[in-house]
This record gives sequence, C-alpha cells and structure tokens, in this order.
Amino acid sequence: MTTTLPTYEDVLTRYEPVLGLETHVELGTRSKMFCGCATGFGADPNTQVCPVCLGLPGSLPVVNAAAIEYAIRLGLALNCSIASWCRFSRKNYFYPDMPKNFQISQYDEPLCTDGYLDIEVDGEAVRIGIERVHLEEDTGKSTHVGGATGRIHGASHSLVDYNRAGIPLVEVVTRPIPGTGALAPEVAHGYVTELREICRTLGISDVRMEQGSLRCDVNVSLNRSGAGWGTRTETKNVNSLRSVQRAVRFEMSRQAGVLDAGGRIVQETRHFHEDTGATTSGRSKEEATDYRYFPEPDLVPLAPDPAWVEQIRAALPELPAARRARLAELLGATPAEMRAMGNAGVVDLVAATTAAGAPAGEARKWWLAYLAQRANAAGVEPAELGITPAQVAEVIALVDDGTLSDALARQAIDGVLETGRDPAEIVAERGLRTVSDTGALGAAVDEAIAAQPDVVAKIRGGKVQAVGPLVGAVMRATGGQADAAVVRALVLQRLGVDS
Ligand code: ADP
Ligand code: MG
Ligand code: ZN
Repeated sequence: MTTTLPTYEDVLTRYEPVLGLETHVELGTRSKMFCGCATGFGADPNTQVCPVCLGLPGSLPVVNAAAIEYAIRLGLALNCSIASWCRFSRKNYFYPDMPKNFQISQYDEPLCTDGYLDIEVDGEAVRIGIERVHLEEDTGKSTHVGGATGRIHGASHSLVDYNRAGIPLVEVVTRPIPGTGALAPEVAHGYVTELREICRTLGISDVRMEQGSLRCDVNVSLNRSGAGWGTRTETKNVNSLRSVQRAVRFEMSRQAGVLDAGGRIVQETRHFHEDTGATTSGRSKEEATDYRYFPEPDLVPLAPDPAWVEQIRAALPELPAARRARLAELLGATPAEMRAMGNAGVVDLVAATTAAGAPAGEARKWWLAYLAQRANAAGVEPAELGITPAQVAEVIALVDDGTLSDALARQAIDGVLETGRDPAEIVAERGLRTVSDTGALGAAVDEAIAAQPDVVAKIRGGKVQAVGPLVGAVMRATGGQADAAVVRALVLQRLGVDS
C-alpha cells in the first residue's frame, strides 16, 4: 500500500504531538550488575560470563554498589527524589539472549523518581518531566546467520553472546511531553543530547549510541484538537541523535495519515530504518501484567543511607547547563553565539584562549572563522589543530598592538600550524610585520597613483569606491605587509579626496 503522507506542516494544523522518551544507558562500571564479570566492549564472545550472569541454577546475584552510586548520581542530576527504600523486581519473559528467562529490573519501586530536565530548544526553555530512573540488567546479544538481512527472518541459525548479559543499565523515563508543537522533533533531539552530555559529565557511561551504550525508545502520539489523548507508538532501534529527530517527524506524519483516512493508531512497538527514515510495525505492545512482575526474592531491599546520598550530591561535578551558563558569562556570549561555538566544538578553546589573555570576542572570532576553517580543511577537530589557545592568544595580542594585520595573523597561524613554533618566532623569522609607517608607504602609493591615471581620474571625479586597484597595487608592492585601511586613507589623502 502506498499512500502519500501529509507534510509535516500540514500535520501541525490539525494535531498536537505528545512525546515520551525512554533512554537506556549502559553504566561504565568495571564489573556487571549482579556478578564480578568484566564489562569491556569487544571481547571474544562468551569470555566475560559466570554462573550468575548465565543464570545457572543455584547461583545468586549480589548488587554492585558502584552501579547504585552511578544511578543516584544521574537521579540527582535530573532533580529526582532518591528512594530511601526500594526493591528490585523480576520481569518475566522469554528471550534467547536472556539466560534466566527473566530480567532483574525495578518496577513499582524505582530508585529515583519525579525529576525534571530543563533544556533549551531554538531559544525556548522546555522543562521535561522525568518520571523515573531505575536500574536493571542488560541482555546478551544474538547474531542471526545465513540470511541476507542479518534479521532472524531467513536466517539458518543464530549465535548468542552473553558478554553483555548482566551489564548494569539505567532506564530514564520521561513523563508525557505535550505542548512542543512544531518543535517536537528538536525537543526529542535536544533532550537526548543533554541527557547524553550529563551522563558523560557524571562519568557514568561512555554514552556511545553507535555501540549501543545509549539507546533510545521514542514514543509519539497525536492529539486531535479537543479530542483527548491519542494512542502512542514506541519506536525502537533509534541509534543516533539525528535518528531520534527523524523518527519523531516520520511518526507524526504517518499517524496523521492514518487518522486522516479514518483509521486508528494501534499501540505497538515500531522499528526505525536508518536508510529510509521510515518506521515499520513491530509487535503489539504487551501489558505490564504480561510480565508477571514480582519482587526479586534473591536480593535484599535497597536502602541507600541518606548521608551517602548527600555525599554523592556534594561530589557532583558542574553539570553541562551550569557550565554553559558560566562560560557564556565569562565569554560575554549570547545564546546564539554559545550555540555556534558549541556546534563548532570550540567553547573550551575559546575559554582557554580568553584565559590566556585574549579579549573574548577576538578569541571567538578566530576560533569560529579561520581556525575552524583550517580544521575543516584538514579534516580534524579544532582541538586537534597543532596550535594551542596560548599561541592563539599571542597572535591576537600581535594584531592588537598593530604588529600584524588580520592577513598577516593568518600567515602567522599557518606558520604555527606548519612548524609548531610560537607566533613570535614565526613573525621574526618570516619578517611578518605591518608596514604602517606612512613614510615607507609613501613611495609605493606614489608609484601606484602614477601607474593608474584612469583610476585616479575616476576617484577625482567623485567615485571614491574606485580606490580598490590602487590599494591592491600598494599591498602587492609591500608583499601584503601594509595595513589596507592605512593605505586607503593615504591614497585618498594624496589625491586630495575625503574618504
Ligand atoms: P512501556 O513499558 O510501555 O514502554 P513506560 O512507562 O516505560 O511504558 O514508558 C512509556 C513512555 O511513553 C513514557 O515516557 C511515557 O511518558 C510516554 N507516554 C505515555 N503516554 C503517552 C502518549 N499518549 N503519547 C506519547 N508518549 C506517552
Ligand atoms: Mg518501555
Ligand atoms: Zn557474570
């Protein structure tokens, strides 16, 4: 069946999107959630396993204290209340890569509840409600062999690697997010970006979406104006930040198409396809009762000491939003300028250049323009360019005291990038110096005037903007070392014209 989906703009005229985001973060603890097995990525299959994470009869789980601490860190960073008493639950279902046939998770008694995360999207503040942050264990990984697609369909057999089984996960579940309108895809993107940044700052995960250490399920429903809440779908396999955004956009159009045609949205999981940007139907959604949750009988309840929680709170690092605000203030940058620096990956570099004595505006200009351009051309991050913030500050100081013009400063930077030596050395060695001494420039100006009588006639006739070729000639004659503004003034002065 091929139907034309309504355009995104069209959807918004009739429906209001509601989002819900469930994010799994694999914790970077050295050992697993309930056993001492190692957690490193990329080991040979089934080399990081033991009776506990293989679910062998008689083995007993023991909670990893580091994982609890990591989850509390995240809960506190997301403004949650930390339970003084809670329990793990068994979530029962069969899956070949889940050796116990149940997952130890948290159900009605999560460790962290009722928080929020403030983000900014397109200059607008959005508060995302956090329903819960709970702990659970990861499953193993199946590889389906012999088919064309790598999916179980058409495969001749499957291989299971249990290295990942039992790695600690936190799941962060948002409250439903209404009211985002046209910004819904960007809000979803902005939320996951900020959550990832927070986890990174807290040092609890390497948050690599491409390796699966951060995974996101994207819930979307559409409200028809005045008609109450719509049914949601839950899109899985969303493996990049950009895909989060695309998945929301696609589901909005798809659901609107179904509703427009008089159809109903079925509550189901869906799969996102990177190549097409489309989602396809997965399984119809099971109810919580299908999982037969009950308190995990092999584990004692979890009762984090409030004093310990306070210790963890006191030791939290500066969070990304606070850091951005501090740097914005330090650098005197507007939100748009902060975004530009953030996108270019130069916030820290600009801050360090400023700390080395450069005016913030100049530091920002050089990193965002010429240095970003050089990094781009070299295919590296700005931080990987062979120039330090202190060296950039030195170049800026040389421009400031009139030693270098912008053009010469670019040459000095090129010299630093080529040799790694300091700007002062490059300047001395290559004789980079602005010739602004009017006496020395006089001869070159006179020559240019004598050589181009037609241009001179135009200028004398009132076309001051025709001065370019004369300035160009002087710049060439001085090997680019003259200050163009000084040259222009000098030429006009010699011709007796007001500039
Ligand atoms: P499940 O186990 O079915 O995935 P969860 O409670 O773990 O349920 O997560 C459901 C997610 O969907 C939550 O983020 C929740 O806020 C969100 N959600 C609930 N109702 C809606 C809705 N009508 N539209 C969009 N998202 C919703
Ligand atoms: Mg869920
Ligand atoms: Zn183990």
